[in-house]
Parts: sequence; C-alpha cells; structure tokens
Amino acid sequence: MNHTDLRSDFLSTFADYDGHERIRRFEDAETGLIAFIGVHNRNIGPALGGCRMYPYASEEDAIRDVLRLSRGMTYKNALAGLPLGGGKSVIIGDPFKMKNDKLMAAMGRAVESLNGDYITAEDSGTNEHDMVVMSAETKYVVGLPTKAGEQGGDPSPVTALGVFSGLKAGVQRRYGSDAMTGLKVTVQGLGAVGYDLCRRLNEENAELFVTDVRQELLDRIRAEMPDVRLVQPGEIFGIEANVFAPCALGAQLNKETIPKMNIDIIAGAANNQMATPEDEDRVADKKILYVPDYVLNAGGVISVCYEYLNRNGKNPYGFDLTRDGMLAHVGRIGQTIEKIFALSEAEGITPGRAADRMARSIFMDDAKTRTA
Ligand code: NAD
Repeated sequence: MNHTDLRSDFLSTFADYDGHERIRRFEDAETGLIAFIGVHNRNIGPALGGCRMYPYASEEDAIRDVLRLSRGMTYKNALAGLPLGGGKSVIIGDPFKMKNDKLMAAMGRAVESLNGDYITAEDSGTNEHDMVVMSAETKYVVGLPTKAGEQGGDPSPVTALGVFSGLKAGVQRRYGSDAMTGLKVTVQGLGAVGYDLCRRLNEENAELFVTDVRQELLDRIRAEMPDVRLVQPGEIFGIEANVFAPCALGAQLNKETIPKMNIDIIAGAANNQMATPEDEDRVADKKILYVPDYVLNAGGVISVCYEYLNRNGKNPYGFDLTRDGMLAHVGRIGQTIEKIFALSEAEGITPGRAADRMARSIFMDDAKTRTA
C-alpha cells in the first residue's frame, strides 16, 4: 500500500484547513482502496473519530470532508471531557457496491500505520462487522462487539441518554424547571437515537409529535406509545411546540426551515444541524435557545472512549471505568451545557460559538498547562 502525507501548502487551499497535524492519503492497488486519514489535533490525547465510506465525486471532496470532520472531533472530544484529540477517516466508494472484507482489512493496515495517533470507529457506511475485520490488522479500533461484562457495543442508546440530559438542561434554562410533563416536543427521525429519545420523553409524560420517512418506524411507535402524534416529514418544522429535536439528517436548520419554526428550544442528536454559520444567528434572532449539537450528542463517543480505555489499560484522567461510571459521565453532558449557556449569556454570543470557545480553551490552553 502506498501512502503520502499531504503538504500543508496544498491543504491550506481548503477552507476547512485549520493547521491539521496530518492528512495522509492511502492507495492500495490490490483492493482498490483510496482513503484519507485526518488527524486534526492530539494535544490532549490520540485522535479518535469514525471511518466514513462514501461515494465522493472527487478526491478533493473527500479531503474537504476529512478536514471538516476531524476538526469537529477535536471540539467534541474536548468538551466531552475525554483524553482524546480529533481525527476521522474517509474511504472513497459506495459502501453498498465496493465494500468487502479485503478492502476493510487494507483500511485496518492504514490505521495501524499511524501507530496509535489515530483510533477508528464506525461511521456512516461502515459497521460493527467492518470494525471486527479491521481489528485483525490494528488494535486502534473501537466499536467492537462485546462479550459478557465488557464495555462497548451499539453506542446509540448511550447517545440518546446524553441527548436527553442536554435537552433537559435546555428546558431548565428556558423555563426554570426541567419537568417534562405536558411539554410539547417534536422529533424528526425515529432511528436508533430518535426512537430511544422518544421512549425517555414519553416516560416523563412529554407530548410527542414525531416524523420519519420509514413507515415501519411510525407503525412501531404508534404501537408502543399510542399517545404520540404522527406528522408528515415536511410538516414537522411548522408545529407549535416547546422543543424541536432533530434526530435525522444534518443541515435541517436553514433559511427555509427556520422562518417556519414556532418553538423555544432546539435540542437533538443530528450532527451539523446548522446548514451555514449564519443559521445560528437566524435561530438566535428568533429567540430560540439552541443546544449545540456536538455537545449534546457526545454519548456515543464517550461510550467508545471507555471501551478503548478499558481495552488498553490506560486511564490518564482517572475515570471510573465501569459501565455505571461511563453512564454517569454521559449524564454530565447537561452540566457542560449549563456552562455553555452561562458563557453565551456573559459574552453575548450564541451557544454554538460559546461551545467552540470553551472547547478551544480545553485543547489549546489547558493542554499547554498540562504539558508545562
Ligand atoms: P438512523 O439512521 O438510525 O436514524 C435516522 C432516521 O431518520 C431514520 O429512521 C430515517 O428514516 C430518518 N429520516 C431520514 N430523513 C428523514 C426526513 N427527511 N424526515 C424524517 N425522518 C428522516 O441514525 P441514528 O443513529 O439514530 O442517528 C441520528 C442522527 O444522530 C444522525 O444525524 C447521526 O449522525 C447523529 N448521531 C448519532 C449517534 C449514534 O450514536 N447513533 C451519535 C452522534 C450523532
């Protein structure tokens, strides 16, 4: 397999370049693998982030994505209080047509070549089986199936727990109480995270309005939670409610949808909810409280981080590495969000910008103190 580290003068032509430590390109003639691994920043630990497989139209598109996603992981891991930096990998190709075990094994060797600077996990286009295949070639992989008593497994329920904790922090901030009874919540997307979130909201007597494009998920929720109201996908943005929880796709908060919104709080699992940075101002202008997505949805990465620390016998921050310790860590997402709201108010900036500022102070300033 050939690999090349892309030069910083070339990378600096991309808007998302942010002094990344390394973007390495891999090409394997035998399996057809073309992939990039991005390491944004390792000031507070090895770079962890998922491996995405997607039919990018060009190598430039793949580089753009790996730059953007690896930087995002640095912010997310720092604010989640994890001893991890930010990284991500992307494989060019349609996972339904091109993916096979030989290709994923080659990707495992690519990860191994970074000697632990980058730790990989599942992302869109890859799954638990792919992680098992990669684990034969590298020990720097998480999201593996678990045996009894081990930590790991599907992180989605843990993500839902963190989203619920952050949503409650938003409700507390807006209404002075986090009681959910009678609160109207709209949920877009009833997949692995959205469905579990609905279950928690339903248990606390929130009034739910939900949508999905998959009929079987609507049938399932109707059967399990008969009081839930089903809404057409296009109508979810116009419902008058207290909270909107986007749990489907990115870029759902944009110049078409925001003007339709009649809600007080946005708190959901989806990544990159704002289509553009200006959309955060549009939301703030409407006096909607935005709970930053990457802080709220960190439960999954907290779960895989504990898996990694347990497996490797490393614990630089002295965490309680039991499952209960991990769940307590996820439960503290709400406290982080309260600090973000306080900074946002004190500085007169949006919660998203306050979160970015807090994250930077962790992976830049705190990291300097720690190594001084
Ligand atoms: P999922 O694929 O299981 O569920 C997404 C659901 O959204 C699907 O049921 C899909 O049919 C539905 N959907 C798609 N387009 C829609 C539309 N236009 N209107 C209504 N519904 C639509 O994904 P998930 O694992 O539940 O993740 C949900 C979101 O949270 C994603 O954006 C994901 O990137 C993010 N996220 C997930 C995790 C995790 O641990 N699973 C962690 C962090 C972030």
